[in-house]
Amino acid sequence: MPIHRARTAQNLAIRAIAARGLAHPITLALLAVAATTASRAWDIGHRVTDTHPPAPNGTLVPDDLYERYMTAHRALAAHRTGCTACRSRQTCQPAQRLVESFTRLQDAYLARQKQKRG
Ligand SMILES: [Zn+2]
Repeated sequence: MPIHRARTAQNLAIRAIAARGLAHPITLALLAVAATTASRAWDIGHRVTDTHPPAPNGTLVPDDLYERYMTAHRALAAHRTGCTACRSRQTCQPAQRLVESFTRLQDAYLARQKQKRG
């Protein structure tokens, strides 16, 4: 099921960006896979919104889990921008905690999305 593969590839790439930074070779490889699977999904008729949903639940009701997931992602990105150790491709201890928090929230969010799709 190509759309499922595209979503998985996208989520793995997001996780690699969070855990390793944008310039890391593994991140770049996963981004390439995400781009390839997304373009295959497009070729067989899926829309961009199938892999990049405009809103987590399609309503204006705030989604707490999604917000926390995105907040964790922003916190990690902000940390990496300002941290000398992280900028030189190491992961300092505060970053490790942020990665764990982000990973936990992404898992929870994706598990819930999967449950919704059935
Ligand atoms: Zn750091």
